Amino acid sequence: MKIGFIGLGNMGGPMAANLAKAGHEVTGFDMAPVEIDGVALAASGAEAAAGKDVVVTMLPNGQILRAVANEIVPAMDKGAAFVDCSTVDVESARAVAEQATAAGLLPVDAPVSGGVGGASGGTLTFMAGGSADAFAKADPLFDIMGQKAVHCGDSGAGQAAKICNNMILGITMIGTCEAFALADKLGLDRQKMFDVVSTSSGYSWTMNAYCPAPGVGPASPADNDYQPGFAAELMLKDLRLSQQAAEAADADTPMGQAATDLYKQFVENEGGLGMDFSAMLPRFEKRGRS
Ligand code: NAD
Repeated sequence: MKIGFIGLGNMGGPMAANLAKAGHEVTGFDMAPVEIDGVALAASGAEAAAGKDVVVTMLPNGQILRAVANEIVPAMDKGAAFVDCSTVDVESARAVAEQATAAGLLPVDAPVSGGVGGASGGTLTFMAGGSADAFAKADPLFDIMGQKAVHCGDSGAGQAAKICNNMILGITMIGTCEAFALADKLGLDRQKMFDVVSTSSGYSWTMNAYCPAPGVGPASPADNDYQPGFAAELMLKDLRLSQQAAEAADADTPMGQAATDLYKQFVENEGGLGMDFSAMLPRFEKRGRS
């Protein structure tokens, strides 16, 4: 297939490289100077998108996605798939899908889980929203870039799944860090705490697979001075998206709001910027009840 790929950053770069490695003809574009194995570079987004079977975007946010869509939708061939893998607000995903559909394109919102390691290893999970035809056209590419793709429903459903998942992730990480900090104050050994909780009803991905306590559980960013991994500011971005969606849909998400407030405080005032999102644990260690 002829593929256009716009946004060749930490995630998009290795994803595009995997498509090229699998034998597809990939033309990429990024605002910043980049070099990606096997990927030809175009001078603009429109040039990368013109005449392709599928165009993939992997961009920072919904505002940028809308601007890029305005540029590439008119340049794309009718019947081509427009697959946006960025994490953006549901409204932007739906607006771009509407614009693309009106132009005769097949839009899919397909945010991912799995981080930079998943992007380079080709083991991402895709959660997709769009028509059955659009999903069918994108699915062979999901197979190359990832290990699983779930067709969640119509346009916006992929972003809805992503922000609900990450709201759980943010809330659970805070709960896990709070519990470790409390265990410390109660004199409970962290390894014993892990041994019990990881096989009891308090188990979770944040405890079992991404433990925020250094030296406990499988290797995680906690064992690397909390270098990301998944940066606290990206967690904050996703929590803000879930709260924005909750507001628009009139859903009651008090725990999501509390997690957003804590990550905002952590990133903006407590040194969390640039740290992994599990660095909430040293943040709780430093604080007593106030
Ligand atoms: P990144 O900042 O490394 O990459 C984004 C790229 O988009 C940059 O290279 C930037 O130059 C480019 N860009 C910005 N505006 C552009 C434009 N108008 N035209 C062309 N290129 C443009 O970010 P990333 O870590 O690759 O994340 C991309 C998306 O994936 C985000 O929405 C993020 O939330 C999501 N995501 C990231 C992770 C992760 O662990 N990094 C995990 C899951 C999802």
